[in-house]
Amino acid sequence: MAENTPMMRQYNEIKAQNPDCILFFRLGDFYEMFNDDARLVSGLLDLTLTTRDRGIENEDERTPMCGVPYHSAEAYIARLIEKGLKVAICEQTEDPAKAKGLVKRDVVRIITPGTVLEPSLLDEGRNNFISAVYMDSSCAGVCTADISTGEVHATQAQGEDLTQALLCELGRFAPREAILSDAAMNDGRIVQFLVERLGCLVQHGGEGRFREDFAASRAVAQFKAGNLKSLGLEGRPAALRAVGGLLSYISEISKTDALMVRELNVYDQARFMELDLTARRNLELTETLRGGEKRGSLLWVLDQTGCAMGSRLLRSWIEKPLTGAGDIMRRQYAVGELVDNVIARGELRGTLKGLPDMERLISRIVYGTANARDMRSLAAAAGRAPIALNWMEPFSGALLSELRDNMDALTDISSRLDSAIVDAPPFSIREGGFIREGYNAEVDSLRTTVRDARALVASMEARVKEETGIKTLKVGYNKVFGYYIEVSKSYYSQVPEHFIRKQTLAGCERYITQELKEMEAEILSAGDRLTALEAQLFEELRSWLTENSHRVQRTAAALAQADALCALAEAADKNNYCMPVVDYSDAIEITDGRHPVVERMLDGGLFVPNDTRLASAEPTAIITGPNMAGKSTYMRQVALIVLMAQIGSFVPAKAARIGVVDRVFTRIGASDDLAGGRSTFMVEMTEVADILRFATKRSLIILDEIGRGTSTFDGMSVARAVLEHTHMKIGAKCLFATHYHELTDLEQQLPGVKNYNVSVKKRGGDIIFLRRIVPGGADDSYGVEVAGLAGLPDAVITRAKAILKDLEAGAPVRAASRRQKTLEAKDAQMSMGSMAADEIRQRLKSLDVNTLTPIEALNVLFELGKRAREG
Ligand code: ATP
Repeated sequence: MAENTPMMRQYNEIKAQNPDCILFFRLGDFYEMFNDDARLVSGLLDLTLTTRDRGIENEDERTPMCGVPYHSAEAYIARLIEKGLKVAICEQTEDPAKAKGLVKRDVVRIITPGTVLEPSLLDEGRNNFISAVYMDSSCAGVCTADISTGEVHATQAQGEDLTQALLCELGRFAPREAILSDAAMNDGRIVQFLVERLGCLVQHGGEGRFREDFAASRAVAQFKAGNLKSLGLEGRPAALRAVGGLLSYISEISKTDALMVRELNVYDQARFMELDLTARRNLELTETLRGGEKRGSLLWVLDQTGCAMGSRLLRSWIEKPLTGAGDIMRRQYAVGELVDNVIARGELRGTLKGLPDMERLISRIVYGTANARDMRSLAAAAGRAPIALNWMEPFSGALLSELRDNMDALTDISSRLDSAIVDAPPFSIREGGFIREGYNAEVDSLRTTVRDARALVASMEARVKEETGIKTLKVGYNKVFGYYIEVSKSYYSQVPEHFIRKQTLAGCERYITQELKEMEAEILSAGDRLTALEAQLFEELRSWLTENSHRVQRTAAALAQADALCALAEAADKNNYCMPVVDYSDAIEITDGRHPVVERMLDGGLFVPNDTRLASAEPTAIITGPNMAGKSTYMRQVALIVLMAQIGSFVPAKAARIGVVDRVFTRIGASDDLAGGRSTFMVEMTEVADILRFATKRSLIILDEIGRGTSTFDGMSVARAVLEHTHMKIGAKCLFATHYHELTDLEQQLPGVKNYNVSVKKRGGDIIFLRRIVPGGADDSYGVEVAGLAGLPDAVITRAKAILKDLEAGAPVRAASRRQKTLEAKDAQMSMGSMAADEIRQRLKSLDVNTLTPIEALNVLFELGKRAREG
């Protein structure tokens, strides 16, 4: 049976060592997959499933297989990784020409979602993180790295709720893959959060991987540190174990110990503002809540970066606002310098625009997956370093000066690569042709030899043609026979005796001669030598760059920071932001604050600015007002301004003073988690419970309508009790929007609670939104009017008004009158008869039935049916 062929035995052995991976088994120019892998992958990637052993009659005994060409494998691997699978690349590890018997093969790399390096598998605007999580009864550690850029972060948490601390850390980075120790793997909340909320591939790391002694020696060796203290890992055993776990996993799957991870950044959790996933999503920091798009998010407004490295860094700043006023002011000062010096900023931005991704290029070079084009791009990027340095010269603030000091002009790298690599190198490095003329004397002379010998062959063709009188004679070349002389049938009689026949084709014959063989040997040996020499020179460049990679990385990191700072300055300048005062006071004072995203979305419309005053003496603001008045916008605006201030950005306001907050909490909008078995109200209450558990006096809480998903009295009671708790027990700053107007009584009962409302003007039956936040409670929600604006049928609105009147008078609600019913019926007919039917007719008219596909037809039918039912 086919399973017993030596090759299949080799396949099965390698597959057994990598059972959890799809094995890409190199056969010639293809990667082949067999058995279950083939069945799975052919289905997922729409590949043809064939069988290997056509000779075997019984189909069940044949080995299923499918394959992809090696040169386009990346696209297929990308799709498998996207689906959360791991791919093991198994290559021939010896030259097939020199192999005795079966060619040796081995897995050279395992590609997983968290360890990809190929540009096509990565999003250039965001990091691709992998985390290792260690947990025991008293502490927990997380280590997170982006292998494509080399950055590594680690921290450790102690205290009561280790799980919560871990969720916060993991939410900060949103890794695509995580390795968990036993205790973390057994913690259902962690696994569920990673898998369901972050879409992360979770792997059980096994306790051995996290051993403290292994971790210590690995970490010291990897980061070339004298001891754990200089790494910041002394006294942080859980962080150390997580670092060890991650390093061991990465080296195992990349099959090398030479990991390209740069210095380790060990931080205290308190260094960054805590933001859970709910707050990140609700505040639409990097993508919108609805479409998951960048447009409409805070990142969209601030991302004026010129290159991918800057854009990635800015995203990570937004995801990790700082809590140290000193750190914040350093960034803020740099942004201020860049705002003021328009010319230098413009030139610097021009230099950084389209800068190739040095961080990822150098990683690929170090890991050996780069080609000559990557080296060209690195040369182009390095060439811009001196120009950027020059434009950073005018700045004297601490951060920009430090960046300048960290930068290297990299002139040796740009000039050596420029002189070594041609302008437009081929994609593959296997066939040579990428070393520039003049870089290496032997390459030049071998190229001359090949060129001369080819010219000799060409001149030989002319000479032999003349000698033999064979007019159609020509010299050709193919891979199987090498060089040959081709003579067509009508001249067979003129073929000289010293021609040796090699091949007969229909209409012609092919010959070789001694002279031709000698020329061929010369061309081929020079060609082979040339390819080998170019490969060797490439390898030399690669190891020289690896030795110098830390210089490239440091410069890349500085350029990324310069780009992100320029972006904040550009956004500040363009959108008329101000520099906030950031301190450790307990105040949040904003004058004429605006919502950074809504004001941009209004597109010419006027955004009405509003003030905010919160302090520990007056921490709670209850905001009432009609639907659609702007309550949510206002509360989010406050949270976003605080957040922007804490990333070091200027803020959309006339003036602002922000006492740093440790955490921003949000409870906004309705969402359910039916798959997780939680109703809308249950989700809401769980989120509120977390807020009450973790908020401190230094936190900012945004509560947008709580207690709505249940009966009025239950909801109102919960809302009031929550508000009393945040105000009296926690003392956190809290913005609380509600339609329960009864809650405005609290202003009288609890010192420090202030009522605000968003003012509107009522003119006749219409309401005009003024968008102004003014002191005092609102007397009405105008819900019925807003429902009318939204297009509810007139009959429903009229009836709602009647019901409201009864309710407000404390009277029982009277039944709908016959007249009302007739009105409703008429109204319904009218609307169906006029509006909906007209629309349906118009829609039908606009269709081109001849070009409609069946699916489109079904969709149209569905849409029309829905419209008809809505009336
Ligand atoms: P509801 O109670 O129905 O949830 P709301 O009071 O929370 O409503 P928002 O959703 O904040 O209302 O605002 C509705 C819309 O009003 C926003 O989408 C925005 O377009 C506009 N808007 C809000 N605030 C302002 C403002 N200050 N200036 C201009 N337009 C604004």
